[in-house]
Amino acid sequence: MKLQNPELLQQANYWDGLWRQSNSGETIEVKNPANNALVGKVPRMSRAEVASAIQAAERALISWRQETAQKRGQILCAWADLLLQHQDDLAEILTTEQGKPLAEAKGEVRYAASYLQWFGEEAPRNYGDTIPAAKPGQKILVQKQPIGVCGAITPWNFPIAMLARKVAAALAAGCTMVAKPAELTPFSALALALLGERAGVPAGVFNVVTGDSAAIGDEFTENPIIKKISFTGSTRVGKLLQQKSATNLTKLSLELGGNAPLIVFDDADLTLAVEGIMAAKFRNAGQTCVCINRLLVQQSVYDEVMQKLKTAVESLIVGDGHDEGVTIGPLINQSAVEKFQRHYDDAIEHGAELLCGDGKADGNFVKPVLMANGKPNMIFAHEETFAPLLIAIPFATEEEAIRIANDTPYGLAAYFYSKDISRVMRVTDALECGMVGVNETAISNATAPFGGIKWSGYGREGSKYGMDEYLQVKYVLLG
Ligand code: ADP
Repeated sequence: MKLQNPELLQQANYWDGLWRQSNSGETIEVKNPANNALVGKVPRMSRAEVASAIQAAERALISWRQETAQKRGQILCAWADLLLQHQDDLAEILTTEQGKPLAEAKGEVRYAASYLQWFGEEAPRNYGDTIPAAKPGQKILVQKQPIGVCGAITPWNFPIAMLARKVAAALAAGCTMVAKPAELTPFSALALALLGERAGVPAGVFNVVTGDSAAIGDEFTENPIIKKISFTGSTRVGKLLQQKSATNLTKLSLELGGNAPLIVFDDADLTLAVEGIMAAKFRNAGQTCVCINRLLVQQSVYDEVMQKLKTAVESLIVGDGHDEGVTIGPLINQSAVEKFQRHYDDAIEHGAELLCGDGKADGNFVKPVLMANGKPNMIFAHEETFAPLLIAIPFATEEEAIRIANDTPYGLAAYFYSKDISRVMRVTDALECGMVGVNETAISNATAPFGGIKWSGYGREGSKYGMDEYLQVKYVLLG
C-alpha cells in the first residue's frame, strides 16, 4: 500500500487515548479480497481487555457529557476536515481491505465525513421542551440527556461510513463509544480513530477494539456500563443481540439486511430508471444493504428496459479496485461467491433467461449477471444476494407489483419509477419499508433518517432522528 501518511494504517487497538496490542499477543490477519495478500494484522483482544476499554469510555463520559455542545460540535467538524484532507490515503486503505473501486472508496470517505460534519453542526441544536403544566404554579420541562456509554458493531461493506455515522451522532449527543469493526475490514475504523485523536477527541471518548466478534458482542450486552448498542449487519446477528440485550435491557438500534424491490412502471422515464437501477444494483459489487434485490418491470416496457440494461451491464469493468476504470471489484470472500453462485444456479434451474454474465468465479471476482424472466419463488427473491446479480420479474398491474414488493419479511429500502403523481402517492403509501426512493436510488445521506422496519430492524441513523437514538428524555416537574 502506498500511503502519503503510513501511520494511518494502525495495526493496534485504541482506547483511553493509547494504541495497544493484546496482552496475549494474538492477532487477526486481514487479507486483500482482490488477491488474498496479507494487508496487516490487528490484535485479538480478550473480553477482559474489551471490558477495560468500556471502563475507559465510562470515565471519559463524566467530562464529555458536560462539555458544551458547541465544543463537541467543533471537534466533530475538525474530524470531518481531517477525513477530507486524507481522503486519498483512507480510500487506499479501504480499497485494499474491502475491494471496492478507488472512486467509490473516496466517495465513501466523503460520505463518512458528511456525517461528522452534519452531527457537528447539529450538536448545539439538541433542544428540549417546556409543556404547559396540569396544575397552576407548576412547570414541566423536558430535557434530552446523553444515554451514556455506547457500543457500536459495524459491517465490512462500508467500513468507514457505517462507523462515522454512529460515532458522529453519539458524540454529538454527549455519549462515549466503544466500537468493534468487522474483522475483515478493521483498518479504516482504526484510521478513523487516529484522525479523531488528531481532531481533539479526548482520551476514552472514542475507542476501537478488535477480536472475536461473539465474545465482544457478549461483553457489550452483558456489561451494565453499556447503555446502548448500535449495530449494522445481518438479521441473524441482530436477532441474537436483541435476545442477549435482555440481560441489561440495553437499548438497541439495528440496521439489518434488506431485500429492496425496484419497480419500473410503464409511465416511467426509462433512461432515468436504468441509470438508477445500475447505480443501486452494482455499487460496491452489489454488496450494500439498500441494493436492489428484486427488479420488477411492467410488461409493456419490459423488453425496452431489459435491452437498455443489457447494454449498461455489459459496459461494467471487473477488476482490482486500484486499477483505472474498474467499476466492479472483488466480492468480499469465498462465501460471498458461493452465495452468488447458489442464487445464479437456482434462477437458471427455475427458468430465468441469461442475458449477461456466466456465474463463474475467478478467485473472488465474478462477472455481473443480468437475467430476465425471474419469478417470485426463486431464492434471490427471498434472500439478499449481496452480489452483482440482477434478475428482473415482469408484472402486469400496480396491485401485483405492490403485492410482490411487500412479499418479504424485510423492509429497508424500496424504489420505483413513475411520472404519475397519483400513482407516486399511492405506491409510496403502500410500500412496507423504512425508505422509499421515487425516481431516484441515491437515497442515503446525513440529513435523512436511514433505517428499516420488519426484519430490517429499527432505529434511524442520520438526521435529528439519528441523534435521538443516543438521547434519553428526562421530564422534570417544577412544583
Ligand atoms: P455479514 O453477513 O454482513 O458479515 P454479520 O452480521 O455477520 O454480517 O456482521 C456484521 C458485524 O457483526 C461484524 O462486525 C461482525 O463481526 C459482527 N458479528 C458477527 N457475529 C457476531 C456476534 N455473535 N455478536 C456480535 N457481533 C457479531
